[in-house]
This record gives sequence, C-alpha cells and structure tokens, in this order.
Amino acid sequence: MIYLGSERIVTNSFQNHKTAEDYAGNHQSIIKMNGTGKVVKVINRFESHEDSIPYTDFIHNKDNWKKGDYYNCISITGKQLLMDDSELGGNQVWIKTYQDHKKLIFLFAHLDSVAVKKGDIVDSNTEIGKQGNTGLVLSNKSKKDVTYGSHVHLQVTDQSGNYIDPRAFATGEIQTTYLEQESGLDEKENASLIDETLAVQDSNENQDTILEKTSDNTPSIPNEKVQEKELIFTCEKEDYYYIKLYEGEKLYLEK
Ligand SMILES: [Zn+2]
Repeated sequence: MIYLGSERIVTNSFQNHKTAEDYAGNHQSIIKMNGTGKVVKVINRFESHEDSIPYTDFIHNKDNWKKGDYYNCISITGKQLLMDDSELGGNQVWIKTYQDHKKLIFLFAHLDSVAVKKGDIVDSNTEIGKQGNTGLVLSNKSKKDVTYGSHVHLQVTDQSGNYIDPRAFATGEIQTTYLEQESGLDEKENASLIDETLAVQDSNENQDTILEKTSDNTPSIPNEKVQEKELIFTCEKEDYYYIKLYEGEKLYLEK
C-alpha cells in the first residue's frame, strides 16, 4: 500500500497509538503529502542512527533515562544527547493545510532528513523529507528487519488540538488544500497555533504577547469574539454577487 508517497505498512494504528499513526517502509524513502500545505515549523538537527531502541530495553531503563522532563537517550540521535519532550519526534515538519475549509496541522516525525523550510508551500510532488529513526524510536522487531525502528509518525490535529485519524490522508483518500489568507493574520495565527500544539517550553510571557496582538486586529463586533478570519473575496467592482455558504459559517465584511 502506498502511504505518504512510498510503499509502507501501518505498524501502529491510530486506535492503538491514540494521537497518531506509524507507517514503516524503507529507511530513507521519500515522504510526500497528499494535497497542498504550508510548512509552519521545522526541527532539523538530528542524525539517524543505525540502531533503534528495543522496546523492552526502553521499558526497563525508562526511569534511568528520564531526568525531569528530559530523556537522556540513548541510541538513535546519538547516545549522549539530552532531548526535551518536544524533541522526542527527532527531525520534524509541521504543515498547515485545510480540509473543507477546516484547518489541520500535519506533523511528520522521526525524519532522517528534512527537505523543506518554514514558509514553503508543498504539494503532492514535493519531497518533505526522508523516512528515518531520529528522536525516540522504539521497536520490538529483529534488528535484521529493514523496517526496524525507521518509520513515519504522522499526527493530524484540528484547530482545537484534537487528534484526527491520519489514515485517509496517508493513503490519499482525502486530499487537503492550502488556502492563502491575509498574510498578517496568517502569521500570528500560525504562531499561536504552534504554541498550543507544542505546549511545552514556551513561557507565558510569549503567549500573552500573541493574544494581545491578535486582539488588536479583531474586528469590533458586539458580543462576539472573532477567532479567525479568512479572505474569501475582494470586491473589484460594485455589483451583485452570489456566494455559497456552508452550514454554520458566518459572514463578516471588512471595509
Ligand atoms: Zn508514532
């Protein structure tokens, strides 16, 4: 089965994994997404290792390896490396995309290498990176197995941070699109969303600043807080226009 641009198998289902799904195939095979999106964050500073951590070793040594919020691990990204919880995914790429006008964030983790940078618009022809085993990658398979450890962890979250089953996105059954928005708002929106997604090391100070900036740009509509606006049309010429609205959508006009 073709998952994410290459032949892969599901090694950890969403039902089991809860937050994501794991797809294992050839180490260093190319990763693509089905649809278009914008790269909003990249972590790219780890090297793949020839080994993975056997699952039972991890279970037995977990307490020794964990110091506060950090795992002093182990194999994979280098034996002496201190990683914080946000880096357990190793080399990672976050992509913002939309399904039926609903915003989604895709997270590809454990990459051997990253082929995109923040701000890039990617489509189904773009190589996002290569499958790898950076970060905390566990395996209970034989080391002779080519899929040992190396895999793609795909996590999909909606605007509220809820986890969504990624399978249909991985197979291409659902193609997502990227909607270009008003650039100023878009950037602030990205910043606050990433803070929510990671929710790890960021200080309260930063989050307050972001909230303040957002409220400066909020249109003054009585008793209703507008959390997000999206440019759908710019009127070039005075006329009558018909528009299609989806259930529950509200329409705001900006002068
Ligand atoms: Zn995973």
